[in-house]
Amino acid sequence: MQRLMSFVSGEWVEGNEPRSVLVNPATEEPLAETSTAGIDMAGALAYARERGGKALRTLSFAERGKVLRAMANAIHVRREELLALAVQNGGNTRSDAKFDVDGAMATLSAYADLGAELGERHLLPDGEGIQLGRTARLSGQHVLAPKRGAALHINAFNFPAWGLAEKAATALLAGVPVIAKPATSTALVAYRMTRGFLEDGAVPDGSLSLVAGPPGDLLEHLDRQDVLAFTGSSQTAMKLRGVDAALSRSVPVNVEADSLNASVLAPDVAAGSETEALFFADAVRDMTQKAGQKCTAIRRIIVPEARLSEVLAGFEERLADVTVGDPAREGVRMGPVTSADQLAEVRAGIEALAETTEPVFGGAGAIEPVGVDQGKGYFVGPVLRLARDPRAAAVHGREVFGPVATVIPYSGDPDEAAELVALGGGGLVTSVYSDDRGFVARAVPELAPHHGRLYLGSAKMASQSPGPGTVLPTLLHGGPGRAGGGQELGGLRGMRLYQQCTALQGDKSVLNALV
Ligand code: NAP
Repeated sequence: MQRLMSFVSGEWVEGNEPRSVLVNPATEEPLAETSTAGIDMAGALAYARERGGKALRTLSFAERGKVLRAMANAIHVRREELLALAVQNGGNTRSDAKFDVDGAMATLSAYADLGAELGERHLLPDGEGIQLGRTARLSGQHVLAPKRGAALHINAFNFPAWGLAEKAATALLAGVPVIAKPATSTALVAYRMTRGFLEDGAVPDGSLSLVAGPPGDLLEHLDRQDVLAFTGSSQTAMKLRGVDAALSRSVPVNVEADSLNASVLAPDVAAGSETEALFFADAVRDMTQKAGQKCTAIRRIIVPEARLSEVLAGFEERLADVTVGDPAREGVRMGPVTSADQLAEVRAGIEALAETTEPVFGGAGAIEPVGVDQGKGYFVGPVLRLARDPRAAAVHGREVFGPVATVIPYSGDPDEAAELVALGGGGLVTSVYSDDRGFVARAVPELAPHHGRLYLGSAKMASQSPGPGTVLPTLLHGGPGRAGGGQELGGLRGMRLYQQCTALQGDKSVLNALV
């Protein structure tokens, strides 16, 4: 069986026993094994800071942009191999795999373009100069300089390619070396991708390391100039916020966690309209793409009471078309969830929802997947529930990380819709479907404080829309409260985590020369 290695301190190293086994979640067949036990994590951090940090800081933004371009190219030439691995190890259909792998390439390319735009500079201004004295002679200027530490990136299992790439793009462009730690269960894609970056000589020595398994004592060695960026569950986030490095050495911890993303259908949207078609397409895609294992997936669908039965019928018809089975098989639209643990979690989540909701489609998720030996694989079918009580706690309090969503009726009043959405405690994205600008103008200020992103679905943008589940490098990703309070991407905004903002005071001509 293939044995994964970690790339630290400039070399590939293997961990000691015991090893974790990576499997194909459709067949349960073992694919690879990995361990990080015994790896010198303190040494890995020191090497990244000293070698990688120095190498990156000698490069201008434009040159770092070229590093990101080379990384995107390294993925491009290995695309077929990476897609096949995502199908095998992630339970992805080919289309799911493309979403992850092509998303990684697109994000690296977008930050490569940003690097070219920023040009030959090493220091970035933050805002305009400020007159401080009697004349403009004494001025102030905020600047952004790369931190001198390393960035530890801990990623979730659902996006092994994009998760690594989107975090690495912002840190590397900012000038900070990266230690990437993918989730163990789906690490094959991240492993192969990193091997590709190194085979092609895309990244300067020390600027990208890979820990292919548990992080061991790595977090204990984080120091004052290091950064920790985490994507995963709220429970793990809570532990990481409490590590000694964060508490006693002020290491910033950026958290991208759970989110009960919502979709709101406004009363103006007519049956059979383009906006209604977009509403259905987005919700069904989010329920089924990657078997619902997307942090941005719609979990709560808020629908005017007057349209309820018609909307439920629309979902039943569309979900009945979804073929579930071995994602390697043609015609299969939805594969399994990625592990036995995830399957148990999803089943428990459906059970908890069932206490206060009624079944609409898919019962408790039992399914006979096509092309799979009986009893094998971590499959759950699409499940749609109806919450007659719109404020039922489980509906707004538990993220079921699978192909599961709940329809919630409301009066059609935007304030009531926003109040229901806010019960989710802060989210990554909520979508509002309406062609009535009055409805949108009332909903947006109520929803905005609870989200990092709002998606405004309408007839005019429908033909160009990638849906709310697609995270774009130019727009902010992250959300308050339950979503973790983190901020990633959003162009320059995503680089802030890796930069120190410093206020300079001095002669205006000196400041101007610096920036
Ligand atoms: P998880 O169990 O919290 O694991 C996430 C990562 O943390 C994995 O790499 C895991 O490594 C690592 N980890 C676990 N315990 C750790 C510890 N004590 N110290 C250091 N690292 C530790 O989450 P998951 O099950 O992979 O991901 C699902 C969750 O992620 C969902 O709740 C989803 O909403 C959220 N998510 C959020 C976003 C977002 O952008 N907001 C994106 C994707 C997913 P091992 O695999 O080695 O255990």
